[in-house]
Amino acid sequence: STTEKRVLSIQSSVVFGYVGNKVATYPLQLLGFDVDPLNSVQFSNHTGYKCFNGPVATEKELADIFEGLKGNELLSHYSHLLTGYIGNPLFLRQVGVILKQMRAANPKLIYVCDPVMGDNGSMYVPKELLPVYRDEIIPLADIITPNQFEVEMLTGKPINDEAGIWQAMEWFHERKIKTVVISSSDLGQPGMLRAFLSQLNGPQLAIDIPKQGDKGLFFTGTGDLFASLFLAHSYDGQDVCEAFEKTVATLQAVIKRTVDALPTQNGAATACERELKLVQSKAEIEQPKVLLKAQRI
Ligand code: ATP
Ligand code: PLP
Ligand code: MG
Ligand code: MG
Repeated sequence: STTEKRVLSIQSSVVFGYVGNKVATYPLQLLGFDVDPLNSVQFSNHTGYKCFNGPVATEKELADIFEGLKGNELLSHYSHLLTGYIGNPLFLRQVGVILKQMRAANPKLIYVCDPVMGDNGSMYVPKELLPVYRDEIIPLADIITPNQFEVEMLTGKPINDEAGIWQAMEWFHERKIKTVVISSSDLGQPGMLRAFLSQLNGPQLAIDIPKQGDKGLFFTGTGDLFASLFLAHSYDGQDVCEAFEKTVATLQAVIKRTVDALPTQNGAATACERELKLVQSKAEIEQPKVLLKAQRI
């Protein structure tokens, strides 16, 4: 029935470590969702290591698995579709085909799209994905969680100041996307990240986040964790401001536990050492303690 909390999660998976479906599944389960992972790739580890290996799923394989779900009349069980890292434009286009069938089976289905394309000025997926996200997939989404670079790619406009953020939010709202969360930007004060949320006919919010760790330290899987936590906390009429604050609160706790376990010169930590302490953060996933409050703009 459509009162279930069940997510079809189409993302990457890794054998070792925590990105994509490996980082999204446990928090969603702890927060009461059945999670059905459908892997867009299965790699040995994330792509930031010295090497990585493993199969990349084709659009045919995606369509095939989906036919199995459909053949057993399972589509009406899904309350959510969540998509993350997808490396091939034909696979992404097939996600659009699937989404339309899921919506037909449950008109209340919520689609959370993390349009993973790149960061810090460069794309890490083939450039052919951009027009498919922009023109076919994003217009079907209820909630999107791009970073600043992905917003710039989608709208075709660089963002230099906060006015640019709110103009970009309008660009998405004009395309009927209800909730836009920009999970990180470089518009904060030095040493801070600034995240933004805008809801159509709802609030406009910002949270300033002190950057944890030495200069040069960064994390992988945090964007994917953000999208899954926001999905869980924003469901079912929960206050969107609280959802945003709880999402950031859990991320900060997971990152703190990760940083605390690093060697003292933590800016030089290896990809393996930087893997998120996810499983160890069960309490902070279940009961986030909000320390960073959202400002209403
Ligand atoms: P993606 O890279 O997946 O497209 P993204 O660039 O937004 O998304 P991140 O830059 O990792 O992903 O940011 C996601 C969230 O992770 C932020 O909202 C913040 O809460 C947290 N975060 C990431 N890095 C840090 C850090 N160094 N210090 C504190 N918080 C961080
Ligand atoms: N999936 C895979 C296979 C990756 O290699 C990466 C980043 O390297 C990600 C997902 C995305 O991680 P993040 O949440 O940091 O954007
Ligand atoms: Mg980033
Ligand atoms: Mg991401």
